[in-house]
Amino acid sequence: MKTIGILTSGGDAPGMNAAIRAVVRSAIYYDCKVYGINRGYKGLLEEDLIEMDLSSVGDIIHRGGTILKSSRCEEFKTEEGRLKGVKILKKYKIDYLVVIGGDGSFNGAQKLSELGFPAIGIPGTIDNDLAYTDYTIGFDTAMNTIIEAIGKIRDTSSSHERVNIIEVMGRYCGDLALYSGLAGGAETIIVPEVNIEVEEICNKLNATKKRGKRHSIIVLAEGVGNAQDLGKEIVNQTGADLRITVLGHVQRGGSPSAFDRILASKMGVRAVELLLDGKAARVVGVKDNKIIDMEINKALSMKKEFDKDTHEMVKILSR
Ligand code: ATP
Repeated sequence: MKTIGILTSGGDAPGMNAAIRAVVRSAIYYDCKVYGINRGYKGLLEEDLIEMDLSSVGDIIHRGGTILKSSRCEEFKTEEGRLKGVKILKKYKIDYLVVIGGDGSFNGAQKLSELGFPAIGIPGTIDNDLAYTDYTIGFDTAMNTIIEAIGKIRDTSSSHERVNIIEVMGRYCGDLALYSGLAGGAETIIVPEVNIEVEEICNKLNATKKRGKRHSIIVLAEGVGNAQDLGKEIVNQTGADLRITVLGHVQRGGSPSAFDRILASKMGVRAVELLLDGKAARVVGVKDNKIIDMEINKALSMKKEFDKDTHEMVKILSR
């Protein structure tokens, strides 16, 4: 009988629980034993493991967050830390490890595989910042959370004829801002991948005001800069009545969307099947609506391409 360990690491994302459920239930279906490792690599080094059965993952498919908890762990970035981790995995007779997280967590999985310990990564992050996969688990839910907020802000923005800046997550990747901005009908979407001058934003505000449009939504990805500074500049240049909303961690919570639950379930099953097939140092993803897998190193070396065409298209639609 083989034994699989599973952990969630880095920033949490809605749908991680659905992925845990899929890994645990498919592993048991294939006659494996499963250990859940609490709090990511940190919990591994602290030997915080618990055996899981079918009912350990009951009633969690609809829940946000992760029942296994998540954390960041500096010690695991050292060779010494990872060797300690492998020793603990071996102590529990764990043969394979499934890591659910973002690129940092995948780096950890890659390094474990280099030490001869087979690990597989499942992409769980709301940012959608991994180039090898069309979607990461949690992105769709976060996007839906944002458009719900945009809709509510739009109501009051329209009543009071205001300009509203809505700051969303995305330090290096503008996907959340772009697609939620498009779906929310934002007038301007500011992302790290495309440079935009404040003057351009103000010119647009002035032009739309001239033709009678008195409210405007600006979606700003957090990585671009401070919403307060941008807001001040806009007020200085246009005299607009402006409000700022920083959505923050509300974007990371909530019940996962159907899309994220389905994606997480499919990816979880594929991860287990790959390991039992003797394949490791790989990550699972989705490309053109098909579940795929790829070497971790290759996946991490790919550069994410920003969807500039859609960003341009928004300019046509949001006048
Ligand atoms: P998110 O995209 O939400 O930030 P992430 O998985 O990229 O998620 P990180 O904080 O970058 O989040 O990484 C999570 C953990 O993975 C780190 O705290 C560390 O324990 C481990 N890790 C990251 N980079 C490495 C590395 N180069 N080698 C070994 N382990 C690493």
